[in-house]
Formats: sequence, C-alpha cells, structure tokens
Amino acid sequence: MDSGSEGSEGSECLFCGIVRGDVPAEVVHESDRTVAFRDVNPQAPTHVLIIPRRHEPDVAALAVAAPDDVAAIGAAVADIVTGEGLDDGYRVVFNTGASANQTVFHCHAHVLGGRRFDWPPG
Ligand code: 5GP
Ligand code: ZN
Repeated sequence: MDSGSEGSEGSECLFCGIVRGDVPAEVVHESDRTVAFRDVNPQAPTHVLIIPRRHEPDVAALAVAAPDDVAAIGAAVADIVTGEGLDDGYRVVFNTGASANQTVFHCHAHVLGGRRFDWPPG
C-alpha cells in the first residue's frame, strides 16, 4: 500500500481528490504544503477552505504528524486575507469531530469573511 503523504484514507477522501486534481474545485491559493479553494456551500461572502496536501483527519492530528503543515495553513490564511481584502476582520474555524459538525475528515480551515460574525458561535 502507498504510505505516502495522503495516508491510508487518501484514495477515498474527497479533499485528497481535490489535492490530486481528480475532483474539480475553484482553487484560490496553493503552496507546497497546502491547497485553498472556495467552499461549494458558502456561509459568508468569502468562504475559503485551506487543506494540507497531507491527509490527516483534523488539525490536532496534523500538528502531531506534520507541524510545519499547521504553520503553512497559517501562512495561507495571511495570503487569503490579503487576496480577498478581509483586513477588517474574518473568522478561521476548524470544525473538529461529529459534535462540532465536521463532515469531511481531512483537516481543513474555514476562512470566512465579508460580513459580521456573532459570538458565541452557534
Ligand atoms: P466541515 O463541515 O467538515 O467543517 O466542512 C466541510 C466543508 O466542505 C463544508 O462547508 C462543505 O460545504 C464543503 N464541501 C463539501 N464537499 C465539497 C466539494 O466537493 N467541494 C467544495 N469546494 N467544498 C465542499
Ligand atoms: Zn484526505
């Protein structure tokens, strides 16, 4: 079995398909470690998902397996904020686990902007 960067779930994972280019996506940013694309069901005027090319189920697992990938997600946030004109404020969300409504178990950061956000979140 290929034990490369995608991990064991790679062949069945939607977001690994986007990394490979097998699943179409509106890509807005790429680095050697990350891919960022517009969410198909946007919850704000700007709604971008940043994913590591490496398959890990969530950000905590990614931090253990590949901490440089977590830093790369932060750097991608900065580039997207500049590119999308979100300097007034934005929200970065990692839904993690079923009770937090994570639906795709390939680590991803939601970058949301272009409107006001309430606190506490729903
Ligand atoms: P989660 O609920 O796991 O935090 O976020 C998964 C996100 O992926 C959702 O916001 C959903 O709209 C988005 N999504 C699901 N399937 C696709 C897809 O095929 N393409 C894109 N661009 N986004 C997707
Ligand atoms: Zn994956």
